[in-house]
Amino acid sequence: MSISTSVLTELVQFLPNLKPQIYFKSSLTALSHAMEDQVLAGTEQPLVIATFQQERFYRQEAHRYRKIAELTPQVYVMAALETEFQNSSDNHETVAFYPQDQLSQEWNLLVLGQYYSTCLVCVEREDLVQNYDISEQLLMDQARPFQGIWTSDRQVSIKVAELLLERTLYYRPELAEKVEQAYSIYGIRSVAKKSKKSSNPTKSNSISTDYSSLNDPFAYRLVTYLQAGQHELLRVYRSLAAKERKERLVNSITATIRQSLNPQEVIKVATQELGEAMGACRCLIYRCKATDNSVKISNEYLCNDVVSIIGKTWLLRENPLFQEVVKRQEPIYINQTDEIDIDWINNNNNNSVKPKESFKKITQKWEIKGWLMIPILYQGQLLGMVELHQCNCNLSLWKEDDLLMVDAIATQLGAAIIQAETYANLEDLNQQLEALERTRSNLIAITGHELRTPLSTILICLETYNQEPDMPVEMRKIMLDTALTDAERLRKLVQDFLKLSHLESGRVDWNLESLNLKECIDLSISGIRAHHAKNQVPGIQTEVPSDLPLVEADGEWLVELLSKLLDNACKFTNSDGKVTINAKCNEEQMIEVTISDTGRGIEPNRLNAVFERFYQEEGSLRRSVGGTGLGLAISKQIVNGWGGEIWADSQGKNQGSQFHFTIPYLETE
Ligand code: ADP
Repeated sequence: MSISTSVLTELVQFLPNLKPQIYFKSSLTALSHAMEDQVLAGTEQPLVIATFQQERFYRQEAHRYRKIAELTPQVYVMAALETEFQNSSDNHETVAFYPQDQLSQEWNLLVLGQYYSTCLVCVEREDLVQNYDISEQLLMDQARPFQGIWTSDRQVSIKVAELLLERTLYYRPELAEKVEQAYSIYGIRSVAKKSKKSSNPTKSNSISTDYSSLNDPFAYRLVTYLQAGQHELLRVYRSLAAKERKERLVNSITATIRQSLNPQEVIKVATQELGEAMGACRCLIYRCKATDNSVKISNEYLCNDVVSIIGKTWLLRENPLFQEVVKRQEPIYINQTDEIDIDWINNNNNNSVKPKESFKKITQKWEIKGWLMIPILYQGQLLGMVELHQCNCNLSLWKEDDLLMVDAIATQLGAAIIQAETYANLEDLNQQLEALERTRSNLIAITGHELRTPLSTILICLETYNQEPDMPVEMRKIMLDTALTDAERLRKLVQDFLKLSHLESGRVDWNLESLNLKECIDLSISGIRAHHAKNQVPGIQTEVPSDLPLVEADGEWLVELLSKLLDNACKFTNSDGKVTINAKCNEEQMIEVTISDTGRGIEPNRLNAVFERFYQEEGSLRRSVGGTGLGLAISKQIVNGWGGEIWADSQGKNQGSQFHFTIPYLETE
């Protein structure tokens, strides 16, 4: 059993003219002590009733109440039933209420004498306290807010006495007789009844002849002063706490982003944490260069109901705010985008689009009301941008120290991105070194086998030829043919190797021209036919549309590429098989050329490996058909040279293969 209505609520219901105010705990402590001291210093025997939220609060004041009880028999102290506190009539009346009783949220004190009266009736307002963490809460204890009445109005005090005595009887009905005495000594019942007719406390205050009232102007001023001091203290605490919170936030974001060595991960974490910490409606962080036209947004923090920009193209060149931030190399915050009237947005720049219009278009489309843009810089170089948007749902202004905090995070982000990228580059470099090492070993193996074997063959043939003058003519011819074939193999290997080195060095002068693809294909087919006996080559078919646009490439390298792919197709396809070449325009504004064969095919897991230097399915030392193992590596370099792509397809062994490459073409008007 407990009472759920506060004394204050009942009092205000009865006397609606009372206007409760906010008091800090420190003020209530001072006021309560002053009221108690007044009793201790006086000669009267007043009625004293006090309620404590918790037993331990009463323990701190118990000695004062014991002293008060020596002066007056009518002392009632109420506190929550917790450990030792219980109903008793020893020194003064103690009344234990249930902890769930509304009284445990209240701070009430009444002093009602014959000649003066004061009362304090308050309820704690935890809802007015912001969310502080534990350490701050201790600091804030003195600033706990209460709402209530503090007055010396006799009529109010009598009503409060009546309400508090009612509660006393609720918990301790056996005190009825003593309470009855209090009623008659202090004139409670008669005045309370009378005042029920009137709700204006001042008019009916007949016995208000206070000569030592706490409510004189001086006391009021003192309380106001006390309250103001507490306010100031609270303000300082709050700003200190906010500052500390921000510092902790910067540290935690920095620690999180510094933990990752993956640039994408770093940006992803920072976007989420920063958006949340700033209470932004939308937070974007993206990598960009000062000269970029646009970027694709892949990291975004959103609060409910805000339109997402993820996956969309975010304009940069046409965005005057972006251009201005890049120019100044410092953050800009616009808190009211629809009221903007600043020089740089009014001045027309070099773009064809007018800055003011395009600014309006972007802010309206994405509902941006407040816009903060901070560049991510590293040694003066723009690495990316942080954007915080306030849309309709959150229009609280960001203050100077918020902006400083985001700026500090952007600086950390710049360093973290550079660190992560350096690591990624190192990894890359490591892989390249490993590849180089593999190539070197391969090269030694190739040199060992490819160069030494033909050289030995040539040497043996020529020595035998030289030392045996009586050798039959046919035998001599075989010796010379073998020496010649191996000499040719050597020449090809050295030639391909030099070609690949040249292409890889990046020093090739591409001689771009407009070419008819069909003519280039025909040229390479005739080259193949000239090098192979007619019955060794499978049938070659060309399917190139006559209206195909002209391609833009270096003719010599294009024919070289086609010859290498065709040569492979013929080499790995039986003479009764088929090789087809076709070409078409694709969606990326390129021509895609495909050379398909019905030959031995490639295992799906080797489709990428075939483009590596010296890759040969049989291994470099067990070659069955001619070739250097450099043809596809050279092809890849040629295609890369004009910005195209090359790839292989095959269903697997004996299922044939398709080699595709793309090449730019000239657009006809
Ligand atoms: P190679 O001089 O050995 O032909 P390439 O670099 O041109 O060197 O080709 C590398 C390897 O790729 C070949 O040895 C072969 O195993 C495989 N390959 C290339 N083209 C084809 C094809 N059309 N069909 C099947 N395998 C192929």
